[in-house]
Amino acid sequence: MAIAAENQAPQEKASSEVSATETRRWTLNDFDIGKPLGRGKFGHVYLAREKRSNHIVALKVLFKSQLQQSQVEHQLRREVEIQSHLRHPNILRLYGYFYDQKRVYLILEYAAKGELYKELQKCKYFSERRAATYVVSLARALIYCHGKHVIHRDIKPENLLIGAQGELKIADFGWSVHTFNRRRTMCGTLDYLPPEMVESVEHDASVDIWSLGVLCYEFLYGVPPFEAKEHSDTYRRIVQVDLKFPPKPIVSAQAKDLISQMLVKDSAERLPLHKLLEHPWIVQNAEPSGVYRI
Ligand code: AMP
Repeated sequence: MAIAAENQAPQEKASSEVSATETRRWTLNDFDIGKPLGRGKFGHVYLAREKRSNHIVALKVLFKSQLQQSQVEHQLRREVEIQSHLRHPNILRLYGYFYDQKRVYLILEYAAKGELYKELQKCKYFSERRAATYVVSLARALIYCHGKHVIHRDIKPENLLIGAQGELKIADFGWSVHTFNRRRTMCGTLDYLPPEMVESVEHDASVDIWSLGVLCYEFLYGVPPFEAKEHSDTYRRIVQVDLKFPPKPIVSAQAKDLISQMLVKDSAERLPLHKLLEHPWIVQNAEPSGVYRI
């Protein structure tokens, strides 16, 4: 795969921005490779240290052959293009990339506390304080993305990582899209998709409000709201907005109110993200710092 643009250097320190003029070509020799952090569909992720700056990063190694076989080169290119231009505390930084004959390497911000998905499995469900703090972080990141005409379209626990301080990071932009128009593509995992996407009608940035509503429910109940054994039942439940709140775990009426305002079939009627930030449940429960320490 030929990606022709130049790469940006990892930050010297996590907090300082790299000068926009500092661009260079990377090779594997620029990094000390450490322990494996995980395995994805197309390759492995390793802890790594950039030798010159000592900056710790996560190096994602993808095999070109597998990317080609699955015909996702175009998707990866789009992901790299979009993620490398985003700068937000709740969005995982993509510092740069390079490639050799067989592999593509992505230089990513290291999320020291790993996958949110695993945390949720461990806890079964989150406290309202924790859930509200994560929802605020995501809403802020999505407001930032939408302001840049980027819709994520695939917000789910598997795509979220946790940084060293406990801050949430959106990590995967594989299905995101840079858009000025309404779109019709069907993408993402069924459980988190809004009615307009499962029905393949036009959609816009408000798809991310729906997915955030699904996620908020899952944080509080431990399962997504439209889960069903059969794909076709999930589909039907989404289209009908068959939203039920089980008696256990006990969840406050305000949290249910917020979820009900996000999971609305008519995308224009969903609670706008800036209004979500002012919702009483958010105001009363979210950590003002936006960080939930674990
Ligand atoms: P992926 O190929 O993106 O699905 O990544 C595979 C696994 O590697 C993830 O499930 C995480 O456990 C881990 N991982 C990926 N990226 C990072 C990162 N930036 N920081 C820490 N762990 C990561």
